[in-house]
Amino acid sequence: MIKLFQTLAVAAVLAPAFGAPAAEFPAKDKPISIVVPFAAGGPTDSVARDLAEAMRKPLGGARIVVDNAAGAGGTIGANKVAKAIADGHTLLLYHIGMATSPALYRNLPYRTLEDFEYLGLVNEVPMTLIGRPSIPANNFAELRTWLNANKGKLNLANAGLGAASHLCGLLFMQAIGMDMITVPYKGTGPAITDLIGGQVDLLCDQTTNTATHILSRKVKAYGVTTATRLTTPGLKDLPTLQEAGLKGFEVTIWHGLYAPKGTPPDVLKKINSALKAALKDPEFIRKEEGLGAVIVADQRVEPAEHKKFVAAEIAKWGAVIRSAGVYAE
Ligand code: ASP
Repeated sequence: MIKLFQTLAVAAVLAPAFGAPAAEFPAKDKPISIVVPFAAGGPTDSVARDLAEAMRKPLGGARIVVDNAAGAGGTIGANKVAKAIADGHTLLLYHIGMATSPALYRNLPYRTLEDFEYLGLVNEVPMTLIGRPSIPANNFAELRTWLNANKGKLNLANAGLGAASHLCGLLFMQAIGMDMITVPYKGTGPAITDLIGGQVDLLCDQTTNTATHILSRKVKAYGVTTATRLTTPGLKDLPTLQEAGLKGFEVTIWHGLYAPKGTPPDVLKKINSALKAALKDPEFIRKEEGLGAVIVADQRVEPAEHKKFVAAEIAKWGAVIRSAGVYAE
């Protein structure tokens, strides 16, 4: 009997070694997919593609693909990742929408703080308010006069409720005390194409998407959403919206990386290390900074600090959104 107990005890100790082996990460036969909850060609998409490239080497040459799962301001893609197999092969790159959607959606199909593993913040990006090229106004003061003269006729594009462009548009309409018709797209990639074509009037979007179009004069620029001006060559003269008279107007967009809740800790560690390596990759830094983004170089690259930051953003923007009385059923 004693012998039997001893045998069982030894078997129990050895069990992990002989049990099912931990799944290999990254798997040789399975790509890592970064879900972008917006259409291809927009700013979240471009960060994800640059990040995928920069994370490939630190993940041992793994194949990393971008999966555009667009719609409902990013919440469709986020939900896809919340429900995905938690093995590290499905990740989410989402922006400030991670923090604005809890207040905007009454029936959000996932729990923002509970259903994801937080992997680290990636970058922060200013936004710019831009207009179709045929708007006669050439600066913010002229734009205000033109807006007042065209009340009720103007529209503002965005990437759906919960998108950065939606939040910025909301703040803008509040600041100028005017409502505009909002036109939702599946991402600001397609929205900016329509703006250039003159189908919509205004858009507020990440500088990583607007800079090249402003510089090539395909769109008109009216202001920067951050408290300080852009440092991007050629755009240093563009005033901030605060300078242009919108007191206290300030919004910066951040992007973060997430995995489904329950992803094994050793896998999360590998992804976080690869993210940190990517954020130090000279080519990634050159691409991002060249378009006005700032790479996160503080504690928010650590999962716990990333999560703390998102919780604070949920509180901050939730109050703003609730006071505006905007929400989706
Ligand atoms: N920048 C977009 C937004 O408005 C989304 C996108 O990346 O297409 O949130």
